[in-house]
Amino acid sequence: MEFSLLVNAFEQMETTTSRLSLTDYLVQLFKITPPEEIEKVIYLIQGKLRPDFEGIEMGLAEKMILRALAHSSGKNVASLLEIYRSTGDLGDLTKEAMAHRNQTTLSSQVMTVERVYSVLFKIAKTSGPGSQEIKIKLVTGLINECSPREARYVIKFIVGSLRLGIADNTVMDALSLAFTGSKKNRVLLENAYNSSSDLGQVAKILATESLDAIEKIKISLFKPVRPMLAERSPTIEDVFKQVKGSAAAEFKLDGERIQVHKGKGHVELFSRRLEKITGHFPDIVSIIVESRISNSIFEGEVVAIDPKTLEFLPFQVLMRRRRKHRVSEAMKNYPVYLNVFDILYYDGESKIQLPYKDRRKLLEHLIAEINDRRVLLVPQEIVEDEKSIARYLSKALHAGCEGIMVKQLESEYRAGARGYAWIKLKKEYGSNLTDTLDLVIVGALYGRGRRVGRYGALLLAAYDPTSDTFKTTSKVGTGFTDQHLSDLYNNLEKYLLMHKHPRVDASMPMDIWFEPKIVIEIVASEITLSPIHTAGMNTVKENYGLALRFPKFTGKVRDDKIAEDATKIEEIVSLYKQQKRTISN
Ligand code: AMP
Repeated sequence: MEFSLLVNAFEQMETTTSRLSLTDYLVQLFKITPPEEIEKVIYLIQGKLRPDFEGIEMGLAEKMILRALAHSSGKNVASLLEIYRSTGDLGDLTKEAMAHRNQTTLSSQVMTVERVYSVLFKIAKTSGPGSQEIKIKLVTGLINECSPREARYVIKFIVGSLRLGIADNTVMDALSLAFTGSKKNRVLLENAYNSSSDLGQVAKILATESLDAIEKIKISLFKPVRPMLAERSPTIEDVFKQVKGSAAAEFKLDGERIQVHKGKGHVELFSRRLEKITGHFPDIVSIIVESRISNSIFEGEVVAIDPKTLEFLPFQVLMRRRRKHRVSEAMKNYPVYLNVFDILYYDGESKIQLPYKDRRKLLEHLIAEINDRRVLLVPQEIVEDEKSIARYLSKALHAGCEGIMVKQLESEYRAGARGYAWIKLKKEYGSNLTDTLDLVIVGALYGRGRRVGRYGALLLAAYDPTSDTFKTTSKVGTGFTDQHLSDLYNNLEKYLLMHKHPRVDASMPMDIWFEPKIVIEIVASEITLSPIHTAGMNTVKENYGLALRFPKFTGKVRDDKIAEDATKIEEIVSLYKQQKRTISN
């Protein structure tokens, strides 16, 4: 397939923010893509070369790209930097520099998707001494063969500034329309994606085989399963209304969720965001490697513990384990326990369709087989009424937990789905909002005074799954230490945008915008009506959205969450209504 066809589609997509138009452009693109190339086209649209869990990265600094570009365009780095300052994007700079170079394209051959992909793959795979030089040569060679428009996308891809604003859901809508003629089959694609976490593979099977083959995609070892998620309930009465009878109440531990895959003597750990994090917990890995269990996938929360009292320690302590160097020292100072809460695959068979009560029995079996005190079952009690839920919540809070999870005993494991089969209940609500919200950073105002050179306030948004957009609910400037401010400034740099991101719905002017990527935890005193914020606009009152009053950063960056895992608009609306009820009681 000619690469220019992909470039045409990308250029069209850059001109729109409407989900419907994006879907149309994608459908047209998929219809002209040869089936054997669809996998690569999907990865390129997602801005990656392979699914996230394979952890493939380009590994090229911007400085190096400038050097490659200097080779190709015949301009020196200083003059390139000058153009860069005005364009603000290395891809745009590349197009400009390549359009004005002295030579014409060196190759008379047409650039293909296959060629671009294979060179990009080679760049990513090159490592070791001298690899930067080899990578630069590969980039130079590739952009010399491209037209300036094509070179712009090659570089945008390498530096991760593609930013087409296409969510996976939109890609699945378009795949379903292009290959089955209807959006209604999207749910089958979604199920397959939730089991395999590999949209390229799902698309390839759809294009080269059939919908039946899609239904056969099941969970398998060493491919992370998209995690099942919980709904939030604001009160005990509400939880009880949802479960209608007996349910399993468990401690909601404040640590890091991991998915453990154990084959024959081999173990991998995946994060909630489906990244491979085997190296973060060598102690847990060696326990599982040495255990008798094989061909199993299970999930649990890793929590730091106080080695003397065996009490659970807060999440921040666990984060001290997140380091590349002196891991063994950190392991000794901050030992961790794995509290297992679900099992998805056992003895080579999927178990996600078993009712939760039976999966828990299997877990008991598994824990006995592992037989190490550092891997335990998450504490659980069967609750039957509001009183027993209240008792268990207070027990969990006393033990230092964030709250409890209440689970329906008959429920299946629903990969990638958020629902009332799992309900999270944190502290009881009073007239003040005591629970936290996880919001996405979408914009910022520059700091003044002490905060010059950093951000003074961040614009935060909640997620709206219906429109697949992020709607603002708060501007926050308190709760940050100097260290937080400079870390956030650095981490946000790669998501900088001059204009509002297409999936962000905001009416406030900001100095700078971001791709919706980083999720942070916020506490606030209450939720109020606001004519400026767009979250819940017109839901409670015409021309009003919902805003947080006295928002404050808790110090916790939720890097275990992707933007779509942020608090949903619906949750904010329900918290607002709940709060009104409590105040008027
Ligand atoms: P939240 O991150 O607030 O949406 O809450 C869901 C998270 O709670 C899960 O992704 C787990 O990381 C964590 N968690 C802690 N204890 C449990 C438990 N007993 N069952 C399920 N998830 C738990």
